[in-house]
Amino acid sequence: MKTSRIPGFYNMTVEERRALVAKMHTFSDEEMNDLFSTEPLPVETADKMIENVVGTFPLPLGLGLNFLINEKEYVVPMAIEEPSVVASASYIAKIVREAGGFTTEATDRVMIGQIQVVGCPDMEAAKEAVLKEKAALIEDANAAYPSLVARGGGAEDLEVRILNEEATSPYNQMLVLHIYVNTCDAMGANIINTMVESLAPVVEQLTKGKVYLRILSNYADRCLARARCVIPPELLADDEYTGEEVRDGVVHAYEFAASDPYRAVTHNKGIMNGIDPIVIATGNDWRAVEAGAHAYAARHGQYGSMTTWSVDEKGNLVGELELPMSVGTVGGAIRVHPMAKLAHKILDVTSAQELAQVIVSVGLAQNLGALKALVTVGIQKGHMALHSRSVAIAAGATGEMIDIIAEKLVDVKEIRVGKAKELVEEYIK
Ligand code: NDP
Repeated sequence: MKTSRIPGFYNMTVEERRALVAKMHTFSDEEMNDLFSTEPLPVETADKMIENVVGTFPLPLGLGLNFLINEKEYVVPMAIEEPSVVASASYIAKIVREAGGFTTEATDRVMIGQIQVVGCPDMEAAKEAVLKEKAALIEDANAAYPSLVARGGGAEDLEVRILNEEATSPYNQMLVLHIYVNTCDAMGANIINTMVESLAPVVEQLTKGKVYLRILSNYADRCLARARCVIPPELLADDEYTGEEVRDGVVHAYEFAASDPYRAVTHNKGIMNGIDPIVIATGNDWRAVEAGAHAYAARHGQYGSMTTWSVDEKGNLVGELELPMSVGTVGGAIRVHPMAKLAHKILDVTSAQELAQVIVSVGLAQNLGALKALVTVGIQKGHMALHSRSVAIAAGATGEMIDIIAEKLVDVKEIRVGKAKELVEEYIK
């Protein structure tokens, strides 16, 4: 039976881990070659993806373990350069699975396309004219992307807003159309851009104005995913801290982020530490997810915490994360990047909704990992121990020397490249 609980994975060699992953996911020889090739993204493919290509830029790919989400096991591919993120996500996922796992849900995948119209002689009349033709405009949008409609998606609704009704300059009064489109399993940016561009001429006729912008909104607040976990305090205890101490510290830390943007930004950066690596590994647009997530964190008028942490009537720690999650399991880079294809195979999700729910679970786990460390021993102990290996490499350590130098750096409590260089020289002598 497939499980994400793999004791001792951390201590295996890279080859042993690869062999295990291949066995679990029954990779073909060709897929194995892709996954473990020295050039996982061929430069010829890269040259077709963006412009002025001179090479590729690899990142470490790790696996987040122990994730149990809606009673399904997930091994989570995470592409990230920062140490301790994968370890922390896996550590918290293990605690949460002992508490029954994450529960998640997602809204329909409705993305928003915007059309900006300026210079309408009568804004109210223009708005009315558009609304009168709402059904026809939705039909026109769908005609621009019939394959999406055939899949059960497509444009579903349309709204019109007048921005800056009391215009203070000739530039700031405008009519803005929102087209709501169910993009099924695609992120949907290109689909929506095609739709809104196709509508522009008829919108100009109806409004007697001029259309400038026709583009997707990354504020995907109708494409939400939510994750929740409920953890009895005893699962949070360690040798030095009681579960209640940790639980209360986490809630205090959350209240700090909820009340202070200076803290909220760092709190949320920690959440994105979990979210971005899986968004990247699955070939999705992490700038889009980042932009939407931070905007959503400011939806109440002040930038605040993306998560909430509270204590329920039984004394359990309750964590929740709800975010816009404009990701896909098809389209964009997913269809060309061999590693993204493999990441989807490892993750084994069957829809964009399911992917979105895994992503917010990882974000919630990552947040708790950071908060648990911060309210107890502090973040540096674990972080710097892992960081020491990068420092050793930067100082010239190779092969087995890397771990030896890294351990010495931790022992002498000086995790600096200068100190590592001294140790490397001593070792070589
Ligand atoms: P694509 O243009 O690749 O469109 C997705 C394609 O997947 C569709 O054309 C559809 O083709 C096909 N498809 C197959 N199966 C399904 C399914 N089950 N559900 C939906 N579609 C399916 O990608 P997107 O439109 O998703 O756009 C994403 C890309 O756009 C990303 O690379 C992003 O970086 C980029 N982008 C982002 C912007 C932003 O965020 N502001 C702006 C512009 C671009 P068919 O139905 O014909 O088979």
